[in-house]
This record gives sequence, C-alpha cells and structure tokens, in this order.
Amino acid sequence: MALIVQKYGGTSVGSIDRIEAVAEKIAGFRDRGDEVVVVVSAMSGETNRLTALAMEVMDAPTPREMDVLLSTGEQVTIALLCMALEKRGYGARSFTGGQVRILTDSAHTRARIREIDGTRIHAQLEQGDVVVVAGFQGIDDWGNITTLGRGGSDTSAVALAAALEADECQIYTDVKGVYTTDPRVVDSARLLATITFEEMLELASLGAKVLQIRAVEFAGKYRVPLRVLSSFEEGEGTLISLEEELVMEEATIAGIAFERDEAKLTVSGVPDVPGIAYKVIGPVSEAGIEVDVIVQNAAADGSNDITFTVKRRDSEQAREILEKLSASLKARDVSLDKKICKVSLVGVGMRSHAGIAARMFKALADENINIDIITTSEIKISVVVGEKYLELAVRALHSAFELGDPQPAISGN
Ligand code: ADP
Ligand code: ASP
Ligand code: MG
Repeated sequence: MALIVQKYGGTSVGSIDRIEAVAEKIAGFRDRGDEVVVVVSAMSGETNRLTALAMEVMDAPTPREMDVLLSTGEQVTIALLCMALEKRGYGARSFTGGQVRILTDSAHTRARIREIDGTRIHAQLEQGDVVVVAGFQGIDDWGNITTLGRGGSDTSAVALAAALEADECQIYTDVKGVYTTDPRVVDSARLLATITFEEMLELASLGAKVLQIRAVEFAGKYRVPLRVLSSFEEGEGTLISLEEELVMEEATIAGIAFERDEAKLTVSGVPDVPGIAYKVIGPVSEAGIEVDVIVQNAAADGSNDITFTVKRRDSEQAREILEKLSASLKARDVSLDKKICKVSLVGVGMRSHAGIAARMFKALADENINIDIITTSEIKISVVVGEKYLELAVRALHSAFELGDPQPAISGN
C-alpha cells in the first residue's frame, strides 16, 4: 500500500466525461489498496474566463478580489470529482485550500506556501476516503483566500506530497510526460523517461509550462519523487530524478524551452559611468517588475545602450518608468519591442561539452534568424529572437541537436 498524491490539470477535468474518466483512474488505485490524495485544477479555460470577467469590470482589479474570484474554479472540480467517486461507491471528501490549512504568505495572485497541516487529511484517509483538494489556492494568516500563480496546482500537489510524506507525486496532464520540447510545436519531440531535477527546474523557469517552477523547487527541496504522466493514455511518463548517478548518463542536451510573452526595452545613449545600470534597472525592479535578460553595450564615444527583457504584460509600465527618468539619465531614446521571444537550450551535459553555443548559433544562422541577445549559464544558453522566428528556431535547434525520436512514426503525442 502506498500513499500517492495525484494532480489532474485543467484539460484532464475539462468536461464531465473527463471527470468521470479521472474517477475511474482513481478507483483503480483504491482497488489496489493505495491511499490517494487528489489535487485538481479548474476545468480548462475556466481561470481565463474568470480573468476576462474581472477585466470587464476594471483594468487592474485588486489582487485580493482576483484571488476570491479565481479560486472558485477549483471549488467546482473538487465537488464534481467527489460526486463521481461517490457514485462509484468510493468514499471521497473535498476540501478547499483553506479547509486543509494550506497556509501561504499574503502575496495575492502569487502567494507562496508556508506550511500545510496534514492532520485532517491523514484522519480522512484513515477512514478510507479519497481526499480531493482544490489546487492553486491557500489561505493567509488573516483568513484571506490566496492563489499561487498560474499553473499553481502543480505546486499544491508537490507541497501536499511533501507535507504528507507521500510515496510519489503524480502530475497527470494532457501529454505523455516531459518531452525534449513542447510536442505541440515539434511533432518529433521525444518523450523523456527521466530528466534530472536540475534540468527540469531550468526548463520550467525558461517557459516549459508542463510543470510550474515552484513545484519543481518544492520537489527538490523536500525530495519528493515526482512523475509527469498522461491522464488520457496509459504509460510510465517522465520521472523527475533526484538521483545523482543518472546525471552521468544524461545526453548533452535535455530539451528546448521557449517563452512567448516577453518584451525588450532599450535605453540608448546613456553615459558610460559607474552606477548607470543600477539607475536604469533599479526603478523598474522597485516597481515590482521582474527583469530577465540584461545586456549593456558601451560605444566608442563613451555612451552606453542598456537592453533588458520583462514580461510583456509589464512592458508598458516599464517603458513609462524609463521615459520619466529619461532626462535625468541623459538618455537619447527609450524603445520597446514587444515582438520578441526567448528560446533556450538546456542540459547538464553542457558542462562537459564544448562547442554547444557555436552549434546553436550556426543552426540559427542557417535559418537566417537574427539573434538579439544571448545569455548563458552552466547548463543553459538562451537567445532572444524575433517572435515570428519562434517555431522555426525551436525546430531548427531540435533537429541540429538530434533531439527527435529516431522513429517519429511511433512517437505519437
Ligand atoms: P495542465 O492543465 O495539465 O496543468 P498545462 O497546459 O499547464 O497542463 O501543461 C501541459 C502542456 O505543457 C502540454 O500540453 C504542452 O503543450 C506544454 N509543454 C511545454 N513544454 C513541454 C515539454 N517540454 N514537455 C511536455 N509538455 C510541454
Ligand atoms: N487553474 C489555475 C490556472 O489555470 C491553476 C492550475 O491550473 O494549475 O492557472
Ligand atoms: Mg499546468
């Protein structure tokens, strides 16, 4: 008998038929004698629908009210899933994040889990019930409902698995596991049987939305065995491996991630003096805007261009901040380009292999793709390119690094 935490994403509970199918799957685990805690997302499209309703009322709703609104999506699916289980003769109890005391900080819309009290869940499991918990939500010290950021149900599941010391956390989604890149962009993307925790962390942080980055962080910190699999088809999925030995056997490149919703700002002609980067970036960060890639180019005439990227939704606000500062910075110009994207190659094997960057740049050059910005770390290389090149760049790199399935005919996804 094992204690398993399972999470079903939006598409997996996107209709009553899908909820019934999930109930069947859970019933199978119960029949084998496993204890099951289930975390569900809202039905697919629901969180977007609720967000759009809020936007009809006002452009910038208060984050507290957004959380009250968005958390309702998951309350619908926990109840429907429990009904589907009860109909089949299985004991089941639904709980909101607040009811099982998923305690978070008060950073509405992007709260972090601080603590989970497993007592109530353990008691319910002892009675032989399936425990169904609303993903994506928690409660702060003052009893306010909080949410964990888009894709946050993954994090709810991993955090619950850590708190309950579960034997495994299974993330059920609409693809068979973690692939070398998004299988919706590259047909020949290959399903990975295992991926190192470090690589998964990097892929998630660079845009692969198959797992929310905080879920991967939790799994690493609390050593939660984590697997991504399909709720639609049988299969072993992908194990996020915490074992060091596996690293040695890994291929040079694990995969390619991309981020569509970035924008690039350039402040040009500022003086090349100490502190200038701070004067440009500081006020943007202080406004709570996350700055991603930064480059600085000094020209022969002693002037400087500073370019950086932010999330597209924050880019107008960043431009306004810089325009207001423009005179005091002695800047020649402030420009914003929203038609960019970031493509990243990730692999722990890069550490021991030279020439990866050159091979990457050649593959992009062969397709006539101009690179705006390059950044590297020990296990990744990212390039910022024009948005229209995204698919082409991902496919070119996928084939240049031979990441595809050797027999795509049977890869299916
Ligand atoms: P869920 O609703 O189940 O949480 P998500 O849409 O959040 O599902 O995440 C699954 C999606 O992630 C897939 O449908 C796929 O398009 C996308 N994806 C991006 N990169 C990858 C990757 N490397 N491997 C698998 N899926 C990926
Ligand atoms: N429903 C939330 C979202 O769409 C949380 C999740 O699905 O993980 O982002
Ligand atoms: Mg998701």
